[in-house]
Amino acid sequence: MRVAPFTLALSLVLAAAAGAAAFAQTPAPVAPAAQDVRLGALRVTPVRDGANPVPNDGSVFGKDVGPAAVAAFLRTKGQPTDTIPLNVGGLLVRGIPGRVVLIDTGNDPKKGGQLMASLARAGVRPGDVTDILITHGHGDHIGGLVDASGRRAFPRATVRMSAPEWAYVRTQDASKEIAGAISARVRTFAPGAAVLPGIVAVPLRGHTPGHSGYRITSGRQSLLDIGDTAHSSVISLGHPEWTIGYDGNKMLGERTRITELARIAGTGTLIFAPHFPYPGIGRVVRSRPGYAWQPALR
Ligand SMILES: [Zn+2]
Repeated sequence: MRVAPFTLALSLVLAAAAGAAAFAQTPAPVAPAAQDVRLGALRVTPVRDGANPVPNDGSVFGKDVGPAAVAAFLRTKGQPTDTIPLNVGGLLVRGIPGRVVLIDTGNDPKKGGQLMASLARAGVRPGDVTDILITHGHGDHIGGLVDASGRRAFPRATVRMSAPEWAYVRTQDASKEIAGAISARVRTFAPGAAVLPGIVAVPLRGHTPGHSGYRITSGRQSLLDIGDTAHSSVISLGHPEWTIGYDGNKMLGERTRITELARIAGTGTLIFAPHFPYPGIGRVVRSRPGYAWQPALR
């Protein structure tokens, strides 16, 4: 198909701008943390990597309503109005026979993250990890797949992500080097597939082309890792209809956030949200406006 040069140039610029927004993050130093939670016969452990303070400047949160409306809402919740704090980290899953599973890997280690220190605190060495499940290909989720010299950080691990997400990761400038380092270890799955015993992928559309949550089940207990369906435990829950600058397809991201939060709150689903305050495990409850966060542990 022929594409008019101007249209092509414009869409490349837009794609580059979207990529830049997704990676324009200033990691802040945090202490390593690895807090265990029992889930049936499994042990799930949020492992902290860093923090991403997002300025309230209209670039990310409430792009459609503006910083004044965002600040007014934050004030009603007793929150600082100039910066929205986000956690960065992954989720370790142990207890599946023969597997040590890590969901997401945090930022590029050159940014000073604590993922490896947090894994060490959990008693896990990089060579122990057998499977890495990726929710999506943004730098704060796949950056830790490589070490500071750009080599694979988890030498034995198979890296699993949805087929459309791998297609996206391979074509983004920002993730080209990581894609090259891991390509021989990547195994893709169809959106919604069973990925490992007890872990099913959940397509959560809009944030990136193949953005995927993971439902982890053991016996009668289950936990849903929602990836980047919601970023701020205050704004994304109170106003799920507000536009998020990090969403690649903003309208679809909004629709997914609205429908998923309604389902999660309606069913009382236990979730892990990697960007909510550490450890990020809890429930979403109805509130006014929207929803509120109820941490299961602190
Ligand atoms: Zn993210």
